[in-house]
Amino acid sequence: ELIEQVKSAPAPAVSQAPSFDGPALQASKLHKAFNNVEVLGSVNLSINSGEVVSVIGPSGSGKTTLIRLMNGLEQLDNGEIHLNGQSFLKLLRHGPDKTKFVEQSSLRRNIGMVFQSFNLFPHLTVLENLMLAPRYHKMGSRKELEMQAFQLLNKVGMLEHVWKYPHQLSGGQQQRVAIARALMMRPQIMLFDEPTSALDPEKVNEVLQVIEDLAQEGITMVIVTHEMNFAFKVSDRVVFMEQGRIVCDDAPAVLREGNNPRIEAFLKDVS
Ligand code: ADP
Repeated sequence: ELIEQVKSAPAPAVSQAPSFDGPALQASKLHKAFNNVEVLGSVNLSINSGEVVSVIGPSGSGKTTLIRLMNGLEQLDNGEIHLNGQSFLKLLRHGPDKTKFVEQSSLRRNIGMVFQSFNLFPHLTVLENLMLAPRYHKMGSRKELEMQAFQLLNKVGMLEHVWKYPHQLSGGQQQRVAIARALMMRPQIMLFDEPTSALDPEKVNEVLQVIEDLAQEGITMVIVTHEMNFAFKVSDRVVFMEQGRIVCDDAPAVLREGNNPRIEAFLKDVS
């Protein structure tokens, strides 16, 4: 009965309409080192509202570090990130040595994150996983949020599993729940960190299909991926990274036909 009710209701808009007409996310001069080894060297990346941007490149080139910095999951060594024109993360310098990492953490909830390893709470049901953050942030009444959860689960094809625990689901199903969970916060931007690389090959497409559907709805997204066909098909822009730097940031066709020998070699290697 619930399933019928949800399926016949109009689908909700899943992302917030931004009130700012500049870039949704702007990363400026990001620097990051681990153990004094530079992992990102002065990376600039600007994501417009409604844009789908894939980040590709060899293993170890800094893709995951970049996307984790963009969400405040790693501390910047230098640089600044703006979210809809507001400073989200930056490093403040006082004098020659003293630095302070400043995060405007209230903005973080506007960024949805989907991890390689799903990261669902194992002791909570699918519904409870979706309800936790929006309940904490008082984003609506229990009833309203439950209806939103049912609608999002329907959107990702997981409504029938609403009462299950993560261990009762396949990897592909867990990842679809994780995407619905991120959407519960009505994020202004969604970040995906290799969302299909922990999946069995036969489960990859069901997750890519959900992400592609979201892309077509105009949700702003940054996707770190090894799925080249997918990246080139769904993205407005593809960013190619190598050794902690952005080598190329352009439309998919330009990357593919740009005659950049390093990109050509990489694409040949992974296909
Ligand atoms: P990619 O996602 O492109 O494979 P990563 O961002 O994961 O690249 O890693 C870039 C480099 O940073 C790699 O050399 C990796 O070993 C290193 N690195 C990433 N995270 C850490 C960490 N927490 N501590 C130390 N080194 C790290």
